[in-house]
Amino acid sequence: MPALGGLTLARVLHVHGIPSTVYEAESSPMARVQGGMLDIHDYNGQLAVEAAGLMDEFHGLILEGRQQLRLVDRDGTVLLDKADDGTGGRPEVQRGELRQILLDSLPAGTVRWGHKVSGTAVSSNIP
Ligand SMILES: Cc1cc2nc3c(=O)[nH]c(=O)nc-3n(C[C@H](O)[C@H](O)[C@H](O)COP(=O)(O)OP(=O)(O)OC[C@H]3O[C@@H](n4cnc5c(N)ncnc54)[C@H](O)[C@@H]3O)c2cc1C
Repeated sequence: MPALGGLTLARVLHVHGIPSTVYEAESSPMARVQGGMLDIHDYNGQLAVEAAGLMDEFHGLILEGRQQLRLVDRDGTVLLDKADDGTGGRPEVQRGELRQILLDSLPAGTVRWGHKVSGTAVSSNIP
């Protein structure tokens, strides 16, 4: 299923020489807007991107300044103002752009658009 989870798994399998097919119920990559921003944390999301071998592409998507933090009290007095110095552990990217680098990293035909899965089976032939 080609959202971030299925595409990342397909990419990691591909990096390790294992072919896969991803079935997606939606008719095409343009079937719907992908939504907004994602924080990609260093302890989970970034580990997945690294396993997928796509860190360079990922760094190209990061929106600078989105990790700035400002706390104010009820009068608007600034209590904390921490700039985004690039060292934060959860940079933000656009969900659709992250999906696109995953789609671009897979062999043509990996994703079968417009194919809704109705059941699964485990094969006993896997060595
Ligand atoms: C408002 C919001 C904000 C979030 N913010 C963050 C964030 O900042 N950082 C972060 O890491 N995570 C965030 N998440 C979580 C993140 O979106 C999910 O963890 C991630 O999208 C899960 O990916 P997925 O591929 O497992 O599932 P999904 O993204 O849900 O994709 C499932 C796909 O499967 C397809 N599908 C469903 N049924 C079938 C079927 N029977 N056959 C074929 N295809 C099917 C769907 O069409 C869809 O494309 C947020 C989630 C929400 C809702």
